[in-house]
Amino acid sequence: MDYLKNVEDNCIECGLCTKNCTFLEKYSINLKDFIKREDLAFSCFECNKCQSVCPKDLNGKYVSELLRKKNPKYKFIKITKDFYPYRNLARKNKYSKDLLYLGCNFPAFYPETSRKLVEIFSSKDFDFSIDCCRKPVASTGFDVTTSKSLEKQIRDKDIKRIVTACPNCYHFLKNKYMADVISIFQWLEEYDYINDINEPINIFFPCSDRYNREIFEVIKKHAPKWNDKFTSTNCCGAGGLASKCESKLANDMISSIKDDEIYTYCATCSMNFSKYNKVHHLISAFLGMDEEVNNNFFKNAVKGKFLS
Ligand code: SF4
Ligand code: SF4
Repeated sequence: MDYLKNVEDNCIECGLCTKNCTFLEKYSINLKDFIKREDLAFSCFECNKCQSVCPKDLNGKYVSELLRKKNPKYKFIKITKDFYPYRNLARKNKYSKDLLYLGCNFPAFYPETSRKLVEIFSSKDFDFSIDCCRKPVASTGFDVTTSKSLEKQIRDKDIKRIVTACPNCYHFLKNKYMADVISIFQWLEEYDYINDINEPINIFFPCSDRYNREIFEVIKKHAPKWNDKFTSTNCCGAGGLASKCESKLANDMISSIKDDEIYTYCATCSMNFSKYNKVHHLISAFLGMDEEVNNNFFKNAVKGKFLS
């Protein structure tokens, strides 16, 4: 609970977080007010935008996480993700120094790009895995244990690096396992698979990488004319499970960008924004494929389960 005290002690009530967040604005609160509003725990999109404007470096996401722990919700998400039905732990090689960790949404929204990545990794005798990193479980407020199957893979295959296709997986798995976690962009750069994008592009930053932009460090070298155009949008609407109780806010976020061309590096952002825009996922774009987001989630998830 120290973080709540940190907000209580350090917030100077300047109002910048409220001005920059449609959730805080809706309830006319700042983060110091938020710490006392357990009833709003699940209304925060955990998008990190407040931290990027707060002079005291405070973040509503951490407030939300602590409030949710007091009264967890959505147990079905915990069950579905703990026993992820579309899990595919490809067990081809005895050893695999690098493991392509596709996550759960990326292979379901980008099946062809996923297949291509599996082929590339396979050509170097590296395995892949389709699984949930359990970040969504953390958003329910229930305790999250580390993945026993991932721990076993790391041990059995002597995996040194988990290579993530999803920014949420990257930030969530980091520093929790006995293997380094790197982004697919770093890996593709190391092996020289990136086709640079030299024209100007507008990037939508996924929530998990918005504030510290660790993954983006590699991306920006290969798309040097990038613009940060969509700063007024909190999130793609899917962050922090908040769309369940704040569906209007979530829909407003999705429709806040229309008739535009967006580059992003989160499959869920791609899916949501593709409703009104042309969206490019940077993994697919850098591979020269530029696959369009595929909305047959369940069909693709089942195919992913049997991908080899
Ligand atoms: S921006 Fe930071 S200091 Fe200002 S009101 Fe919000 S939490 Fe407090
Ligand atoms: S994390 Fe996002 S939704 Fe939550 S308070 Fe901060 S800006 Fe608002």
